Amino acid sequence: SIALENVSKSYQADTPVVKNVDLDIEPGEFVVIVGPSGCGKSTMMRMIAGLERISSGTLRIGGKVANDIPPQHRDIAMVFQNYALYPHLTVAENIGFSLEMRGVSKTERLRRVEVVAHLLQLSDYLHKKPKDLSGGQRQRVAMGRAIARDAKTYLMDEPLSNLDAELRSSMRAEIKHLHRQLKATMIYVTHDQVEALTLADRIAVMNKGVLLQFDTPEKIYDDPASLFVAGFIGSPP
Ligand code: ATP
Ligand code: MG
Repeated sequence: SIALENVSKSYQADTPVVKNVDLDIEPGEFVVIVGPSGCGKSTMMRMIAGLERISSGTLRIGGKVANDIPPQHRDIAMVFQNYALYPHLTVAENIGFSLEMRGVSKTERLRRVEVVAHLLQLSDYLHKKPKDLSGGQRQRVAMGRAIARDAKTYLMDEPLSNLDAELRSSMRAEIKHLHRQLKATMIYVTHDQVEALTLADRIAVMNKGVLLQFDTPEKIYDDPASLFVAGFIGSPP
């Protein structure tokens, strides 16, 4: 499980961008985080991944206090909002990178890269560099890099935001399928209401650093905690 207990974050003194968030995510759960731009979604993800220090409060992973566990020891793979691909590596090398770091053999690496590339429709681009790809292709490589690893938890920060409608909907189905296969915990940020409602076991709605509601899609849709939540994801009041 991943649990945030009264977690806050300020980049600058006295201006918290995440405020006293309590969030308890069960193993294998698919949690979608939604909320307006700047409300603190990526900051939360980065704290869970260990890429950003927690200002106050406690993060627990599998029950253990994890505030000071370095990212590489958290068993968490992350897809970043801005891709952050290695520019000097090919698509295949980008996807296989974390496997190489973890000492997976070359044969096994190639096999997994092929499976992932096929899944993400990247098989024809394996030898290209990121600069020669479209935005949507880069985004799929970023996703491939994370799912090539088998981690206990996957954090995905708007992984489909640059894709066209058709690819988005096929990828949405793939992600759902992947989640079932991997039995991993997924924490997923999106601006897309359809994505949130179809993927999530539970949805976390945030605004201005505050977690407003954390509940099943049905509950949030039928019984939003506030007008804001209703406006964002629920049915009109
Ligand atoms: P978006 O939907 O646009 O991606 P978000 O919900 O992911 O937004 P964050 O990126 O978490 O929002 O940013 C939350 C707030 O923290 C914003 O006001 C942002 O300007 C600020 N912020 C983010 N990163 C930093 C940083 N490294 N230093 C200072 N302020 C930051
Ligand atoms: Mg963000």
